[in-house]
Amino acid sequence: MKLGIFGGTFNPIHNGHIHLLGEYLEQLRLDRVLLIPTNQPPHKPAQQLASGEHRFNMCRIAVKGMPQVEVSDLELRRQGSSYTVDTLRQLRRQYPQDTFYLLMGGDMFLTIEQWHDADEILSMAVICAGARSPGESEGLRRYAAQLAAKGAKTEILDLKPIAVSSTRIRGAISQGGDTARLVDPQVYDYIGQNGLYGCQADQYPWDLSRYNQTIEVLLKPRRYHHSICVAKEAVGLARRYGASTQLAYVAGLLHDVCKNMTGEEQLQWAQKYAIISEKILFQMPQLWHSMAAPGYLRDVLNIQNLEILNAVRYHTTGRANMSLLEKVIYLADLVSEDRDYPDVEQMRQLACHSMDEAIKESLVFTVKNLRQSGTPLTLDTMDMCRQYGVAF
Ligand code: ATP
Repeated sequence: MKLGIFGGTFNPIHNGHIHLLGEYLEQLRLDRVLLIPTNQPPHKPAQQLASGEHRFNMCRIAVKGMPQVEVSDLELRRQGSSYTVDTLRQLRRQYPQDTFYLLMGGDMFLTIEQWHDADEILSMAVICAGARSPGESEGLRRYAAQLAAKGAKTEILDLKPIAVSSTRIRGAISQGGDTARLVDPQVYDYIGQNGLYGCQADQYPWDLSRYNQTIEVLLKPRRYHHSICVAKEAVGLARRYGASTQLAYVAGLLHDVCKNMTGEEQLQWAQKYAIISEKILFQMPQLWHSMAAPGYLRDVLNIQNLEILNAVRYHTTGRANMSLLEKVIYLADLVSEDRDYPDVEQMRQLACHSMDEAIKESLVFTVKNLRQSGTPLTLDTMDMCRQYGVAF
């Protein structure tokens, strides 16, 4: 097998990377490529470095249409400085038979002899380069000849360069410029929705009427009404406690989006994004809708904001160390104006006074009810109980 290995900061991944990747796949007839976001780039200081999780997610979105490409979290999991030689050693153990093609742009290629343990890298992989700007190819070929004289194997791509860089994209975004044509459209949305590189998630044009129409169709009337009530309540709590009212509204409106699907559909969505994290959840159909929702929201409504996705996912089980928005949605669901259980007024007052006290109180009730009905607690709920000092 010919295995391409394409590492980079991907902060963010852009059309230059995708163009390079497509050309490598075709010209070198690679069977597979691992796209590996670095944890900490050793070659250049990282500016405005988005979290590994964000960069990984953006890579996944950008290569969705390339079935031969797999995004790997190998360097992110390894932590610390990401030395290519360590990655190659690790991959060699995993894929002893494959021929490795180390893919890169011309700028990186010209520095390869300065990389950590460069000789070992040169002996382990075919080193491949593609020009980043017009007129660069000649210099790359000359340098490739020098490397070949030392015994290295190289491949220089025949490439029409696209002169774009992550630095330029970050700079343009922070000055309010339009970068829509430089990145995949969904990566563009991801950046805007998650407030990366100086964007404001609040200012993203959330398509509220589309979300509203979607739940009106998907949900039964009472559930639809409940969703509207939770959205309103979430805005009130967000205003009171300093969370984003816009994100609170969207998360509140959509928190039950999968509630009226069949169990089979819910499980399919949950499993698509590997959200069923413990076996016990298979026996708890009352929780499936919250685990199905992140996948549905991503794929169908293009909602990529991680805060919203987590708030929706954890509105049933909760978890330890919830974010402000997660707490807002968890409580809004409990005290929205359509709720009419006996102590709801008391709970509403508590929620206005202190979110944590209200969460603790609700947890005490939840644990008692689950115990009485013989329903097990999920690991997330148990962690949350520990955090709030609630016996279970
Ligand atoms: P930054 O501007 O932050 O330094 P970058 O645009 O160079 O980022 P990286 O993630 O550092 O992107 O690059 C990963 C790999 O992709 C490197 O080998 C780089 O040379 C190559 N590359 C990046 N942009 C292009 C491009 N426009 N054309 C060809 N190769 C590119």
